[in-house]
Amino acid sequence: MKKILCLMLALMMVMSFSAFAEDGTFTGVGEGGKAGNVSVEVTVEGGAIKDINILENEETEGLGDVAMEDLKQQMLTGNTVDVEAVTGATLSSTAFIAAVKDALSQAGIDPESLVATGETAEAAELEDAYDCDVLVIGAGGAGMAAAIKAKEAGANVILIEKMNNIGGNTLLSGGEIAAPGNWLQQEGVDSVEQMEADLAKAGGNPELDHVLASNALNAAEWLRDDVNVEFEDYMLFFGGHSVERSLVPKGATAVELVNKLWAKVQDLGVTVFTNTRATELMVEDGKVVGAKAENNGKTVEFRAKNVVLTTGGFGSNVEMRKANDPAMDEKILSTNTVGSTGDGITMATAIGADTVDMQYIQTYPTCDAETGALLYVADVRLDSYGVLVNKEGKRFVEELEARNVISKAVTEQTGACSYLFWDEDAMQKSGVAETHKAEYEDLLARGQLVKADTLEACCEHFGVDAENLKQTVADWNQYCADGEDKEFNKRGDLIPIAEEGPYYMLVSKPAIHHTMGGIVIDTDAHVLDTDGNVIPGLYAAGEVTGGIHGNNRLGSCAIADIIVFGRIAGENAAK
Ligand code: ADP
Repeated sequence: MKKILCLMLALMMVMSFSAFAEDGTFTGVGEGGKAGNVSVEVTVEGGAIKDINILENEETEGLGDVAMEDLKQQMLTGNTVDVEAVTGATLSSTAFIAAVKDALSQAGIDPESLVATGETAEAAELEDAYDCDVLVIGAGGAGMAAAIKAKEAGANVILIEKMNNIGGNTLLSGGEIAAPGNWLQQEGVDSVEQMEADLAKAGGNPELDHVLASNALNAAEWLRDDVNVEFEDYMLFFGGHSVERSLVPKGATAVELVNKLWAKVQDLGVTVFTNTRATELMVEDGKVVGAKAENNGKTVEFRAKNVVLTTGGFGSNVEMRKANDPAMDEKILSTNTVGSTGDGITMATAIGADTVDMQYIQTYPTCDAETGALLYVADVRLDSYGVLVNKEGKRFVEELEARNVISKAVTEQTGACSYLFWDEDAMQKSGVAETHKAEYEDLLARGQLVKADTLEACCEHFGVDAENLKQTVADWNQYCADGEDKEFNKRGDLIPIAEEGPYYMLVSKPAIHHTMGGIVIDTDAHVLDTDGNVIPGLYAAGEVTGGIHGNNRLGSCAIADIIVFGRIAGENAAK
């Protein structure tokens, strides 16, 4: 009897809400996405959600949009907005949920009153075990390169990824790749030896660096010709390189790179399981024979002839960071995805793998002072424009120095932040406001970037000493006229700052970006144990490995690394 009463009550509630709710399609807006507002159209029928259409938005391709699609399916299946934000895409998720709620309220529906179906849009349950030739763990750039090469070599490949989206830290990068002797460089200005010499300054393993430098161009050509990655027709001059040699994928973010690698992975028919986190390597008679993983709470065994670890670094694992460098504590923001927790290092060391350079954790010098995100608008610096000053309005480091040097110098300044100052000509020629429009507008809206007619107005916004900055700019322009930066000997082109505005000023801070240390590999990407012996059946590539970048990774050498060693690992694992 009680049950019948409850049912009647529920029915009456639905009927009463349906009575107030309007059928139709309603637009809703959610604020605070990664790149501003998120808009949706929600179709409502009889008080229930019938369809959700995600309108144009600037959320990170491959990350925010994947999360929103996932939430949309959950909402439609469950007729509910009571869904959890997707890990790693919290801002996009929260804005999306708010947008749907907003649309529902336009329809006269209180989101709390939606009658949930109780159904969930969960993926089909995995089998208890799978067999393959090559298991690749981690679907960032290195993992996808390895999976492609292994599959092309005829292996049966499974690629597992713990997040609900592929791409890892690779997706959050600019995607630039250092390639000596590339198609945009003039003949003879660069060489493999010159790149090796640049890499050697950080004290990495010379044999691995030789493999990296001598295969980097080939890796870039492979991306262009085999993976169909489109590149811009200009290069960037990353700090610490002796020449401009970094190729830029279309759109100047890694979205192009990751999308094309992903398309190739799919075209080749690699079996991919997302939301599947490897937890331990399986070893039999001293050989790695697969890995155990978790998917939706279920333990699954992936048995393989060879395993490739491509799980990325540990920039988001505060405990691991602190254990290796106590200065890298929770107070320091990070550019990394939440997936970069050093799982591969933990799993490999548990079976005897050696690690190297774990104490070298790189901060990127010009990140969002509020969130730690990489700032692409700040790439105007890498085009040789602008001056980097402190609160006192003075330059304090060479603008194109290596990342560790600039980051260290910034942390020693007032407020531990820096201010990049440039003019309208630089803005137009670099094109960063157009290429990274959403970020540009978001920075302006949050007051992290200011555009003003005068130098004084820029300084006033941030409390930077204007008199000193005027002198700094005058000195800088004199150095440009003389053809020599007498203070910091800036490399590359010396470009003066205009006498007239508008000007731009951007505040930024260093944030954790790359962990140089990791598992020890040899030049064939075999993982080595603490006695220097190969661990049979185990390969590794990318940020999970150590020794290649020494104490400081040069910009655009990570993409070269993941593609060069990802391909080697995949090819060898398939043999
Ligand atoms: P790389 O630049 O070396 O390719 P990325 O950070 O781009 O590194 O990619 C590493 C990928 O590995 C990320 O997508 C991350 O979520 C994934 N990953 C990390 N740990 C695990 C794990 N235990 N199981 C499956 N995937 C993992």
